[in-house]
Amino acid sequence: MSNGHTISPGEFKHFKTIVLNEGILLAGFDYSGKSVNVLNVESMTEWQKIVQFAEQSAAIRGVVLVSVKEGNFCAGADLEQMHRAQRQGSFQEMEQLVIAAHRLFDEMERSPKPFVAAVEGACLGGGLELAMACHMRMASTHPKTCFALPEVKLGILNVRTLERIQKETLVQAAIGQARVLFSAPVRRPPLRASLRFLSSPGIRTLVCRYARHQVIKRVRHFYPAPLRAIEAVGRGIGLSILEGSLTVEKPLLLDLMASPISSHLVGLFLAGEEVKRNIPTVPAAAARIGVLGAGLMGSQIAGQLAEKGYTVVLRDVSSDILAKAIGRIHKAQTGQVRKRIILPSDLRYRMMRVDPTIHMKDVSLASLVIEAVSEKLEVKQAVLAEFESEAHPDAIFATNTSSYTLADIAARAVHPERCVGLHFFNPVSKMQLVEVVRASFTSDMALAQACSLAKRLGKFPLVVHDGPGFLVNRILSRYLAEAVIMVAEGISVRRIDAVAKNFGMAVDSGHPMGPLELLDLIGLPVALHVLTSLAVLGSRIESRDALLRNFLPEGKPPLTFWKSEKENPEALDAVANYRRDHPSEAGSISDDILHQRLFFPMVDEAVRCLNDKIVDHAWQVDFALTYGIGFPAFRGGLLTWARQTMRQGQVAQELESLAIKYGKRFEPCPALSNGGW
Ligand code: NAD
Repeated sequence: MSNGHTISPGEFKHFKTIVLNEGILLAGFDYSGKSVNVLNVESMTEWQKIVQFAEQSAAIRGVVLVSVKEGNFCAGADLEQMHRAQRQGSFQEMEQLVIAAHRLFDEMERSPKPFVAAVEGACLGGGLELAMACHMRMASTHPKTCFALPEVKLGILNVRTLERIQKETLVQAAIGQARVLFSAPVRRPPLRASLRFLSSPGIRTLVCRYARHQVIKRVRHFYPAPLRAIEAVGRGIGLSILEGSLTVEKPLLLDLMASPISSHLVGLFLAGEEVKRNIPTVPAAAARIGVLGAGLMGSQIAGQLAEKGYTVVLRDVSSDILAKAIGRIHKAQTGQVRKRIILPSDLRYRMMRVDPTIHMKDVSLASLVIEAVSEKLEVKQAVLAEFESEAHPDAIFATNTSSYTLADIAARAVHPERCVGLHFFNPVSKMQLVEVVRASFTSDMALAQACSLAKRLGKFPLVVHDGPGFLVNRILSRYLAEAVIMVAEGISVRRIDAVAKNFGMAVDSGHPMGPLELLDLIGLPVALHVLTSLAVLGSRIESRDALLRNFLPEGKPPLTFWKSEKENPEALDAVANYRRDHPSEAGSISDDILHQRLFFPMVDEAVRCLNDKIVDHAWQVDFALTYGIGFPAFRGGLLTWARQTMRQGQVAQELESLAIKYGKRFEPCPALSNGGW
């Protein structure tokens, strides 16, 4: 940099600093050893030194804070440090950090010298507080630029030099803004009318009560943090920011940090980082993707791909089916225009990237093809054979099957090494997990291509080994099958789903959901197929096919358990018909037993999956079920929940009692009572 000089070169590990000739201190945040900038004792101590240097040095007239990281301004608190404190139950360091941060932010706000934050990339949590403590914020239109309080997202490691960043328009604009500010006195805008309005105690109580009501409606009482945040706002209005932060917010924050719920959430977040970090990837990923099958899943996958900039060749057997698929993709994307997430021109470009066809040869230019055709083994094998005859010799074939093994599908493949599983969950845009399935014959390249694609779609690619139902559907099938068995016994649909919702199932999606509503969402034909196929695992995967077949009337759409948020009367008739032909007496059953029947077999199946090496670690099971089927995150995942809330061997004992009363399907595997999972 020609027009300035650095201060104390090498003094800082996480910041690069330079003083420009006109007295502007340019500070580039570049947390060493992480792909994102985080706030912890180390980085805050350095930032404090920079702030103090700026204030004390007559040569400095203002400060511009910028990030050197690509796509990340600051991700907020260092969650690894926080999780360490949570595991050790020691929060002294965290408390010191919170106090120091608030004091420092207050010092910045009061400083007569202007601080300007030049924000490019994600600005989250404590990072947002840091930016807010500056007198002015400028933001670039980088696609990753966003401001948020609760969420932390990681960018990709790509450290640029400060010199290069300085050339960017954003920093120039921020420097310009700093110049304007130091030529005029720095003044905070007066208290906004809305804040004055909220300062009235009566109004404040009303607003807080309404906010509490809204939170409870969405997440019930499962998550204390939003309620504490409302409490902090309510009690803090009228106090100075520093006083409110230290006397109201800090004790609530430390209390939350020490709770098992926060520890579970941070643990799952870090598990997600681990999942993304440990996958094999390729530098030059596929740009043109083929999608075979334009049904429920194929159309959603094609929409997601187009959204992320991929060119998609979407193939199905008829133009009518394709036209409907294009209509569904258009409708989903139009929703984003309506919500002003994208411009109408973005929608047009996205739609132009989807190329529908009925010919396999049009897919031949794609370097990766996702198969989402009907769940029939002979259809999938035929499609794979057709793909092999038309596709590029290096092209990868990724199946989205729910119930067959990769080995079944690739049994007749000429090049099985090109076959991999890419198992998306429904709804594709919302479910963050993708199981990337590796069979013994899958090549490293196929696995890496599949992982790279899933990652670029913003998903968590969890690598699992091949086996019936892979990981998630295998465990899920126990839950769904038991729910259907209970319906067959005459237990009400509403009650079964209510027990699951009261446990928190799918609460994180904003739409709590029980197993029967989930079956409706998956679609009964697919679900029935999964349950039937998984019978290969043994008699424990029992389902009531005869009941479910009553739900598939000839030539009509399948029945659903729910219709317009009520139990579907036609479904109730179908159950009554079934029960006339298959009378059974469930006797009275408590909610507690109902709960055990739904959730304990899942724990058993999860332990069996670990034994079968479908995945290697219990945390992977916890992560997969949380992000794949909506197991409540605040419980820390299926196995964490079972371990932490029950004594060793308890699940196995309860399952043995259930086996005596309800049948052999409940018999636990030996590893369940042995612990160690
Ligand atoms: P679907 O019945 O909605 O769609 C299947 C599509 O495949 C149909 O449009 C059909 O015309 C088409 N098709 C059949 N033969 C074809 C061929 N030779 N070439 C091209 N297209 C062909 O089914 P779906 O629910 O979208 O499921 C598709 C796959 O995804 C299945 O393997 C299923 O197990 C899996 N899956 C489904 C879900 C779910 O929730 N429904 C979730 C995850 C995975």
